[in-house]
Amino acid sequence: MTKFRLFVLSFLAISFFAFISCQQAEQNNPKAKYVFFFIGDGMGVSQVLATEAFQSAMTGEGNHIPLGFREFPEAGLSTTYAANRFITGSAAAGTALATGYKTNIGRISMDTSGTVPFETIAEKAKKKGMKVGIISSVSIDHATPAVFYAHQPNRGMYFEIGLDLAASNIDFFGGGGFRKPEGEFEGEKIKIIELAQQNGFEYINTKAAFGALTPSDHKVLFVNPGLTGGEAMLYAIDQPEGYISLADITKKAIELLDNENGFFMMVEGGKIDWVCHANDAATTVYEVLDFSAAVDVAVSFYKQHPDETLILVTADHETGGLGLGSNVMKYESDYSLLAHQKVSGEAFNKILSDWRKDNHINEKGFKKMLMLLEENFGFGGEEAPIALSRGEKETLKKAFMAYDLSQESEYGNYNRLTYVATEILAHRAGLGWTTYSHTGVAVPVYTIGVYSTAFSGNIDNTDIPKLIWETIE
Ligand SMILES: [Zn+2]
Repeated sequence: MTKFRLFVLSFLAISFFAFISCQQAEQNNPKAKYVFFFIGDGMGVSQVLATEAFQSAMTGEGNHIPLGFREFPEAGLSTTYAANRFITGSAAAGTALATGYKTNIGRISMDTSGTVPFETIAEKAKKKGMKVGIISSVSIDHATPAVFYAHQPNRGMYFEIGLDLAASNIDFFGGGGFRKPEGEFEGEKIKIIELAQQNGFEYINTKAAFGALTPSDHKVLFVNPGLTGGEAMLYAIDQPEGYISLADITKKAIELLDNENGFFMMVEGGKIDWVCHANDAATTVYEVLDFSAAVDVAVSFYKQHPDETLILVTADHETGGLGLGSNVMKYESDYSLLAHQKVSGEAFNKILSDWRKDNHINEKGFKKMLMLLEENFGFGGEEAPIALSRGEKETLKKAFMAYDLSQESEYGNYNRLTYVATEILAHRAGLGWTTYSHTGVAVPVYTIGVYSTAFSGNIDNTDIPKLIWETIE
């Protein structure tokens, strides 16, 4: 058979299958009353599988324990490129996921020129009479949550995004706070939260008030009382007992939004991206576990309403170029080593700053630093959980000696010493990173419930809201 004939035959076969699937879509287009849209920011297949391998390794005996959403019956792969760049950013990718349109880097649900707003799936669901919830572990004016309710030419316009939030008719906002809670609008000083209250939002900022929330007709703006850098919630690895988690907020949102017209809910695990920017593998797996626990809450709801619920779990892009393998370990891996890291890189940075107040950057200081590294990463001599090689110790020492020259980065503000420590740990566990930025790989799409089959196979991020809308409208 010639190559050309083979090509024509495969083209015909593909057309036939496309025809069949279109037919199916038109014939059975079951309607979902309850839609959960989960976005793990920066969560590629590697982040998911590394977390699963970590979870499995921690139980020992060669067990394999999948994450709940990895057992969903349908899976697809979504391309993520932006209109003007192959490797996308959260704003452009989020716009695609929220509106079905490609746009330029930085736009918040606006066209490439930054002048024409795109209607979002959350706004369309509201118009249809559904209740809508927007939840994120990072600040609620951050790119991913913003693309569902705001329209701005630039993701950095936090104050304007906040104004859009206050003016919106979204029923529930929950998670992080505001990057720019105050500003000037038409000559008047505005506090976003006060403006939101004037526009009918009940503002909740304590654990007691959060617990006491019950379904009502007014809109709710919940800002977690325990926030850290960037007005985001604490990393899962750093959360104290009793902390209001992403899963807790998801559970509360279900209680508040459940009504006879149904609901649409977007839940973002926003800090998976931040730790992947920092190449912090241990914090990543705890972040994915935390995100997965929020999905499990939706799954419990799904089990009570299997014929009316759609749950979709995806990512806006992958971050860090995480690979499941390292040159240090070659064909071996031991993900349980990640458990020796006790705090996030962000929290370790704080420990380092405090330590620096009473200590010096010299030989003696390094000996003391090694004790701190053993405590927080398990690194040390022969008897330590992770015995450092001479080369690893040298790398740590070099970063330590350059401590006061370390640059702070946008994501996580990690000190160079923290980067080196988390990198050594990742390599020893059998993981590797290629970049501190995003990558262009396709991301997974896991679905269960009504219309879930529509999302399987190879799709584009712009297909996702279009397909969701097919099952809502
Ligand atoms: Zn992102």
